Amino acid sequence: MSAEKPGPTGNGSEPTGLALQRKLSLVDLLDPLTFGDVVESLGALYQVGVRVLDERNRTLADAQGAHGEFCGFIGANPTVRVRCSAQVTRVKEGPLAALPPSQVLGTEGAGELLLHTCLTGLCYVVVPVVWEGDVLGRVVFGPYASDEGGTPVCPEGPDAERVREAWASARHLSQEELARMVTHLSQVLTALLAAGQKSYLTGQLHLEAMVETQRELEHQNSQLLRLNQRLKESDRSKSSFLSTVSHELRTPLASIIGYSEMLAEGLVGGLNPEQMQFVRTIMEKGNTLLKLISSILDMSQIEAGKVRLAFEWVDVREMVESAITSVTPQAQRKGLTLEANLPVGPQPRVVADREKLRQVVVNLLANAVKFTPSLGRIEVRLSEVGTRSELATAGYHIEVEDTGVGIPENQRDRIFQSFYQVDDSPTREYGGAGLGLAIVKSYVEGHGGQVSVRSEVGKGSCFRVVLPKEPPLSGQGPAYIPPPVDTEPERF
Ligand code: ADP
Repeated sequence: MSAEKPGPTGNGSEPTGLALQRKLSLVDLLDPLTFGDVVESLGALYQVGVRVLDERNRTLADAQGAHGEFCGFIGANPTVRVRCSAQVTRVKEGPLAALPPSQVLGTEGAGELLLHTCLTGLCYVVVPVVWEGDVLGRVVFGPYASDEGGTPVCPEGPDAERVREAWASARHLSQEELARMVTHLSQVLTALLAAGQKSYLTGQLHLEAMVETQRELEHQNSQLLRLNQRLKESDRSKSSFLSTVSHELRTPLASIIGYSEMLAEGLVGGLNPEQMQFVRTIMEKGNTLLKLISSILDMSQIEAGKVRLAFEWVDVREMVESAITSVTPQAQRKGLTLEANLPVGPQPRVVADREKLRQVVVNLLANAVKFTPSLGRIEVRLSEVGTRSELATAGYHIEVEDTGVGIPENQRDRIFQSFYQVDDSPTREYGGAGLGLAIVKSYVEGHGGQVSVRSEVGKGSCFRVVLPKEPPLSGQGPAYIPPPVDTEPERF
């Protein structure tokens, strides 16, 4: 049965997936339930048995015909039964090319029909199912009694008459009827195979597209992982480079500062005013450089995850006062008013690393001094907060407010990133490396706290640190500050 492949669907694109390269089978192309119904109704319509087998001789559909009575009589003879079933097996399972055609029916639309006359006198017609040049299986019609001749094999004995009667009532088919039936099935099969192929290929191409997308995603994922790994490695190298360089710079710098201090104190003889001025400048610039190097070293330690917090009970007010003292000389030099507003109970204590906490306040105050023009004002406030604070636990707010240049809104999230400065031009007015706030954020968060900023350009800024009385991990001894991740700071 040469089921003809229909012409192109007209969408102009020939699919080229792997699904097209594979030889399809009837099982791939036909829906067993629908096809079973079609064959069933065809068998009922023509009153002939129809069996459809795939290329591995598996039965896909089977409609019984009206030959039962005759075959029953014939089958009662053991010798005939054995030969009969051997013939049936050959017709249904034997290689198509090896089937000895007794007769070939050439019928338009039906291809070649191989007619087999059974030893019982009944006939079978075997029609190969061919799709796109491949033999996908066969259809077996019959058995039936041919109108064109054929005589029954009648056993001798009392049943002979009944066998002749059964033969007479068996389904008789003319060649034309047979050709009509084959053409009928051929047309239905062509339509079903075309529809089945379309939906099979669509399904396969969809599947292949999904598999391809998945493969691409996996590839991109592994590339990202590799890149990430390389970034981490270069980050580690950067931190270790910064740490080594800073350490190596600090030692000679300490000598420069020490010797210029001795010169200024007159330990090696008096200096004239001009010499004194030069020595003081050396000391001042040396100290600025030392602070810068210390910040770089601190940040590289934080990024390497090497900063350890030594928790102890700390008097917050005393710690804030000490930080204020350390920036008072710079504030005075600029003519700034530095006010402390610390109205908390007798012993405001937190569990913290005192030095790290002091550095937090010093960094905020140093920025306030740096970014506030002469005659401006800086206020430091300390207040106790209850469990309804941002942290949902009791603690303290430390606020450093200035009347300085302010920070544009679109920069406020980024100033806590390391090396970020609002003005990063080579001609920028203020010194610094852009590390002070990154260190503040890491230290405060290491204590289980938060830092935030509000600001108005040209009017000033207010940095607020909220600290819990006891950091979550402080009960378990010293803690390491985790390396920073890119998160946006809280604002209020
Ligand atoms: P540095 O001060 O060394 O540049 P920081 O990390 O301390 O680095 O601050 C980052 C940037 O945030 C500063 O360069 C500045 O632009 C801005 N900034 C910080 N504090 C203030 C402030 N009080 N007023 C205005 N701008 C500030």
